[in-house]
Amino acid sequence: MSKLDYMYKQVDQLKKDGVYRTLPINYGPCTGVIELNHKTVVNLSSNNYLGLATHPKVKQAAIDAVNKYGAGTGSVRTIVGNQDLLEELEILLAKFKREEAVTCFQSGLNCNIGAIQAIVNKGDLIVSDALNHASIIDGVKLSKADKAVFKHSDMQDLERVLKEKRTDYNNVLIITDGVFSMDGDLAKLPEIVQLAKKYECLTYVDDAHGSGVLGESGRGTVDHYGLHGEIDFIIGTLSKAIGVIGGYVASSKIVKEWLLHRARPILFSTALPPAAIGAIIESVKLLMGSTEFTDKLWDNARYFKAKLKKLGFDTGHSETPITPVLVGEEAKTMEFSKALLAEGVFVSGIVFPTVPKGTGRLRCMISASHTKEDLDFAVKVFEKVGKKLNII
Ligand SMILES: *Cc1c(COP(=O)(O)O)cnc(C)c1O
Repeated sequence: MSKLDYMYKQVDQLKKDGVYRTLPINYGPCTGVIELNHKTVVNLSSNNYLGLATHPKVKQAAIDAVNKYGAGTGSVRTIVGNQDLLEELEILLAKFKREEAVTCFQSGLNCNIGAIQAIVNKGDLIVSDALNHASIIDGVKLSKADKAVFKHSDMQDLERVLKEKRTDYNNVLIITDGVFSMDGDLAKLPEIVQLAKKYECLTYVDDAHGSGVLGESGRGTVDHYGLHGEIDFIIGTLSKAIGVIGGYVASSKIVKEWLLHRARPILFSTALPPAAIGAIIESVKLLMGSTEFTDKLWDNARYFKAKLKKLGFDTGHSETPITPVLVGEEAKTMEFSKALLAEGVFVSGIVFPTVPKGTGRLRCMISASHTKEDLDFAVKVFEKVGKKLNII
């Protein structure tokens, strides 16, 4: 008997359910084709949408920042961790996002677990979309505010909640993903903004998958809808399309002042390292200088999606380069993923609890770093394996 017997049992159950996995190992950089477990495969699973993680100028900027500032910042921002490079990044990001101010965090997850509890309190209500990202759910749990959930992107249900509860609370904060990461659909931001006005609510959009993807040169979902100045808290990630690591809140100046005093990841966790900051600054400058990266991404995504649809795959209702291929049953989803890998295409299977039971899918992430040949190869393999497993 061991005190950890319960854990052995849980892991055993994962194996019985066919959802146990070991971590794949990538023996090189994250590009369109990678060396995964020593096998060369087309990589359809990264969030490196624009290929910036390996851009020569971005890598050089990281090296330059290390040479000038060292490897680590040595402290939280409120003590001596606030290097001028980070201040420069925040000014640049505010300009990029066309918002008054930006506050950087160590990751997108850190943003959500830090910002939400800082901006609402006891006596307030959070109204959250049912399909919001796990880090939002965790952020909400850490807050002292009450919580209500509305059906995914269902504006009538959102209004029902607001009608029922608005008057019982001080502040009400509506939280939504900008782009829903498992299906690739967009939040109905214009309608959400209207309801927020009608019921005097604050608005919070986590645009992790919209940053660097939607809007002019990747300015995000808010820019895509032309809603600048209408969303109180816009969360972006620097880990996905920007190709490095980190997260930020774009907002008015007063929000930034408050976050610098109350957001716990800023107060109690060391600031982003110089290499990351230097690289991010270069990535954002590249994006601001040209639409070539986003153009290539969207061109690749449309190309790949059209081919899969033509073969008869169910690619859901994505409006972004996120391309889900719906399978359904958990074990079958994992089997599909495994068979694709054996043929040289890596797409991770996404199953419960990441998505609801019975909606297992392969989530293809298309990137500007893919060549047409990479995508053609992947489509061919999808056709072969899909037919073999009776999915098409
Ligand atoms: C990926 C993601 C995050 C986490 O971002 P990291 O920078 O990787 O921590 C947060 N929110 C959403 C909606 C995401 O998709």
